[in-house]
Amino acid sequence: MLGVYIHIPFCKKICTYCDFCKMYYNKKYIIPYLDNLKKEITIRYQNELVNTIYIGGGTPSCLDNLELDYLLNILSIFKLSKDYEYTIECNIEDVNIEKLKIFKKYGINRLSIGVQSFNENNIKKLGRGHNEKLVFDNISLVKKYFKNINIDLIYGINNNLDEVKEDIDKFLKLDIPHISCYSLIIEENTKLFINKQKYIDEDIDRLMFDYINDKLVNNGYIHYEISNYAKLGYVSIHNKNYWLNGSYYGFGLSAVSYLSNHRITNTKNMTKYLNGNYIDSDIYEDIKINKENDLILGLRLIDGISISKYNNKYQDNLLDKKVIKELLNDEYLEIVNDKLRCKYIYIYLLNNILERIIGSDL
Ligand code: SF4
Repeated sequence: MLGVYIHIPFCKKICTYCDFCKMYYNKKYIIPYLDNLKKEITIRYQNELVNTIYIGGGTPSCLDNLELDYLLNILSIFKLSKDYEYTIECNIEDVNIEKLKIFKKYGINRLSIGVQSFNENNIKKLGRGHNEKLVFDNISLVKKYFKNINIDLIYGINNNLDEVKEDIDKFLKLDIPHISCYSLIIEENTKLFINKQKYIDEDIDRLMFDYINDKLVNNGYIHYEISNYAKLGYVSIHNKNYWLNGSYYGFGLSAVSYLSNHRITNTKNMTKYLNGNYIDSDIYEDIKINKENDLILGLRLIDGISISKYNNKYQDNLLDKKVIKELLNDEYLEIVNDKLRCKYIYIYLLNNILERIIGSDL
């Protein structure tokens, strides 16, 4: 399994919570950036069969039609497997028939749409510009062209469970097959941080998390990763590859690749990138780091990780490890058939559990 991630760092508006690598959309950078993206791909891509492409950002959908056409033309160099998944991130405000037709023309078969909230005050607080009606209108347009759609939602903006209940109810009315639902993180150097936004009460955050799980699962969504839910057949193949510690290319500003145990991180500096200095660091990850990554990524999956695959890959015995024995003993982890996984009642505490694994003797 091989994935490709493409980073388009331009946004028309900057959200108050965002610490991704992005900059304001500025016409003068777009074509030079895409020219360099093409050059980077041409230099580094070895013509392998690719299973997934994911165009993220930034806001890839903020490119105009000609720029989008040029970008997708560049990406047609990738040799796609028969059952490929090809996703583009799209701001709900950018949805229109012309763009949807361009996506279709180049074989994109999945849209990941940033909505974050339906609540007017929270939309403003997050620095986004849509409203509920626009979401419903544009999603019904998207559904005419695409079946495989994800929506991103953020909860935990205020100490108010009712707001979350309303957002989830509205999401369910949209009747789409995938949702990524994250609790608000107040990162340093974001507008929210500067404006001294406070984290909500942890007990209320927990109530929200439980409510979201129950409501979505009762409505036919499979909770397959700590923050992701899908109807049957709509699990994100691209993202699952990350959680399975699989291989992927990352092209574009700040993109990360993981290939043959090398973690290659691209520069975040636009000037450097436009001068052809694409790569910032290339770090070989030894077997210890690999084992740790298999666990800390794999345990994010509700199903957990395959014990036999781990043992075969490393010629080792996972269940002999002291930290795993302890976590099983403390009943935070459990074994179900061939899988080692976090007990569902403790999934909210997963980060604390993973902290015990990080740096342990594997
Ligand atoms: S959250 Fe997405 S759309 Fe908002 S500023 Fe960040 S990259 Fe741009």
